Amino acid sequence: MRLVLVGPPGAGKGTQAQFLAAHYSIPHISTGDIFRANLKEGTPLGNEAKGFMDRGELVPDSVTNAMVKDRLTHDDLGNGFLLDGFPRNVAQAEVLRAVLADKKTPLDAVLELAIADEEIIARLSTRQTLDPTTGEYYKREDDKAEVVKRRLEVYAEQTAPIISFYRSEGLLITVTAVGEVEEITSSAISALTRVTA
Ligand code: ADP
Repeated sequence: MRLVLVGPPGAGKGTQAQFLAAHYSIPHISTGDIFRANLKEGTPLGNEAKGFMDRGELVPDSVTNAMVKDRLTHDDLGNGFLLDGFPRNVAQAEVLRAVLADKKTPLDAVLELAIADEEIIARLSTRQTLDPTTGEYYKREDDKAEVVKRRLEVYAEQTAPIISFYRSEGLLITVTAVGEVEEITSSAISALTRVTA
């Protein structure tokens, strides 16, 4: 299964991605997680991404595309992959399409997690994020109200256009991201069974 997960910040992409990746036995590739891991380690990539992330802006495509292209050369993709947080604009979607066309491994589906803005704002204001290395929860810098507002604008302006892009490619599946986590996962899996069978 080669899958892209799309949805606004706070839609629960990371949570659903973990369950879906386990279900299909595919690696969960989150560009946000990769950036945060680099930030924490203080690598050059992390330092480059920091300012953009703190402001709720996208990290420049040159940096992000190179990082994803490199990740897609790893040898753990035999069963496919789940991309979470990439692509985030049409230019990234075009790059992904070209990279996958080269490898003759096109996407099977793009899963959109749909949710209203008011619900997002409520969720992110109280969200705590698990640090995978320490096992502790913390408040992400970019979950502060002003930054959330900018992330939603960036989503509407830059990321939402990829929804029509993938709809026109016949790859889009939309599920409502409101309700119990397990229910959302099951709806996603049954919707994916229908399109990929
Ligand atoms: P969320 O989905 O909650 O907004 P992510 O963890 O996916 O959070 O992303 C956090 C931040 O990392 C983004 O606001 C952006 O600055 C950066 N980022 C992640 N993925 C990309 C991408 N594909 N292109 C550019 N920037 C990205």
